[in-house]
Amino acid sequence: MSEPTNQKILHEGKAKVAFYTDDPNQVLLYYKDDATAFNGKKKGTIEGKGYYNNAITEILFKLLEEKGVPTQFISRPAEREMIVHFLNMIPLEVVVRNVAAGSISRRLGIPEGTVLKHPTLEFFYKDDDLDDPMVNEYHIHNLMDISDADLKTIGDMTLKVNEIVRPYLLERGIKLIDFKLEFGYDKDGKILLGDELSPDSCRFWDAKTDEKMDKDRFRRDMGRVEEFYAEVLKRLQA
Ligand code: UDP
Repeated sequence: MSEPTNQKILHEGKAKVAFYTDDPNQVLLYYKDDATAFNGKKKGTIEGKGYYNNAITEILFKLLEEKGVPTQFISRPAEREMIVHFLNMIPLEVVVRNVAAGSISRRLGIPEGTVLKHPTLEFFYKDDDLDDPMVNEYHIHNLMDISDADLKTIGDMTLKVNEIVRPYLLERGIKLIDFKLEFGYDKDGKILLGDELSPDSCRFWDAKTDEKMDKDRFRRDMGRVEEFYAEVLKRLQA
């Protein structure tokens, strides 16, 4: 399935293209199969990823809406397309970790697979030139205009997403190791969950075997990448 060609591009990211629609408050997201890692230094394709990530994000965003977390989701008109509220994005990646993996293991020497005492919240400044450095609240106030209250809101929303999605996935045989969220302001200044929630932006491990079911398979050249993206969707649809 190809990208919409008759619409003007608002923004092209690594995994999605955002198009203008006839409604100034709505954006069409097109989910690509392009995969990147290490801030774009590794490039490839994961066949079907656009479809899997779009469908997985729809399921999880609808679940979050039901449980009182406002998201950008409006509809999914096609396999790789999602209509969302236009958001003024906050340039932060908000991460919650339940189990150590990836950068926390590298940075703090906590072995991968160690269950953390508490869900652990981290902020990263979204800036490719700087390689998305980790920042604290003090750094953030020097980098952007955001109130203490809004910063607390996005931290609390991310912890709430963890409380909703973690048990939901576990019931479906998937451990939520960690994940990254992005937020933005809608036309009324309300903070909504943006971007996606998918095997690209989360670490998912099989609950029985600890087999990786996420983008680490691509990052680490583990093979069978498509198979596990498809398996995540299958378990959520079951
Ligand atoms: N993550 C992401 N985009 C990024 C960096 C991280 O979606 O640009 C996700 C990643 O998939 C994982 C979580 O955020 O689920 C924590 O990633 P980490 O800081 O461990 O970074 P990594 O080891 O992937 O470099």
